[in-house]
Amino acid sequence: MTADHASGAAAEQLAAATRLVALGRQDRQPGAGVNAPLEFTSTYIADGPVNYARAGNPTWSAFEEALGAMEGGEALVFASGMAAVAAAASLVPRGGTVVVPAHAYNGTTSLLDELAESGAVVVRRLYADEAGAAGDVLDGAAMLWIESPTNPMLEVFDVGSLCAAAGERGVVTVCDNTFATPLVQQPLSLGADVVLHSVTKYLAGHSDVILGALVTPRTEAGSGLRDRLARHRLLHGAIAGPMETWLALRGMRTLHLRVERATANARELAARLEGHPHLDRVRYPGFGAIVAIEVAGGASAAERVAAATRLWTHSTSLGGVESQVERRRRHPGEPESVPEGLLRLSVGVEDVEDLWRDLDQALRA
Ligand SMILES: *Cc1c(COP(=O)(O)O)cnc(C)c1O
Repeated sequence: MTADHASGAAAEQLAAATRLVALGRQDRQPGAGVNAPLEFTSTYIADGPVNYARAGNPTWSAFEEALGAMEGGEALVFASGMAAVAAAASLVPRGGTVVVPAHAYNGTTSLLDELAESGAVVVRRLYADEAGAAGDVLDGAAMLWIESPTNPMLEVFDVGSLCAAAGERGVVTVCDNTFATPLVQQPLSLGADVVLHSVTKYLAGHSDVILGALVTPRTEAGSGLRDRLARHRLLHGAIAGPMETWLALRGMRTLHLRVERATANARELAARLEGHPHLDRVRYPGFGAIVAIEVAGGASAAERVAAATRLWTHSTSLGGVESQVERRRRHPGEPESVPEGLLRLSVGVEDVEDLWRDLDQALRA
């Protein structure tokens, strides 16, 4: 952060767009670069604040300052979203119960299921339609995992009331905020204990890096969690490369512009897709830039649509500037309750008429 601005809580008085652009920069010394330094070093001259680069790096600090201010807490960068998921899951005591949405990201549910097989944790599924009565599901649990909207079913949970129900029972809440981004919701302000990001997606935003992050509150309890997560990162070694972190910070500078444009495109496409003769259903929560469509004719028809697009890329992942389409049930880890013909559309920032023409011709092909 520049010397002219206060960091931490004071920075949160700046608008989100300003925080994205202004934070995580060098001190305003004459001759200093305006961007965060990119240091390729494994070690540092003794007696400084950090002595070995598995424990810290100036590019991490810049990225963590910017993301922390966006989420209203303190961030830790990890090698990938899954490295962050593994670190967060390590907070569950041995044999403890984790409540996780049935349609959470399939890497998350697969990891928790593996931990359950070895007896490390017990997994309870949370279905979106029973979340109103989540109290019963949470009794005796150690951790509540929230993802809202879910990937790829786009179910929305009431994050605030789930966090409150968890808090009353001493259950630690982790909220995967990858889909919503801190522009749409800040789970710490809704009572979550840990916020998770696959930075790979919207935050970095250009489909060119894999990176993850966790954010904890700036409170005593939050710093206890942060210390445990930082120690996990140090000892398990799932650390981010400085180059990836630098690219992610550069991508984050335009998060607000990309999300605004992609959301406007998604809203328009969702409206036009509604009632399309080749679709059984359109899922769009009304915000964000992911739309899920269920192609009439199931798996093979959906595969044909994905293969027939020319502008949309048929590829996994989401949150980049380019529009992507994928049939999720291609992945064996995806639950059977996800329809075979469901295509997840990650709407990018291209011209909406070009996107519509390509999608419409693929649906009719
Ligand atoms: C992609 C994704 C992850 C995993 O992140 P990686 O960066 O791919 O390791 C976790 N949660 C959600 C919601 C995701 O979309």
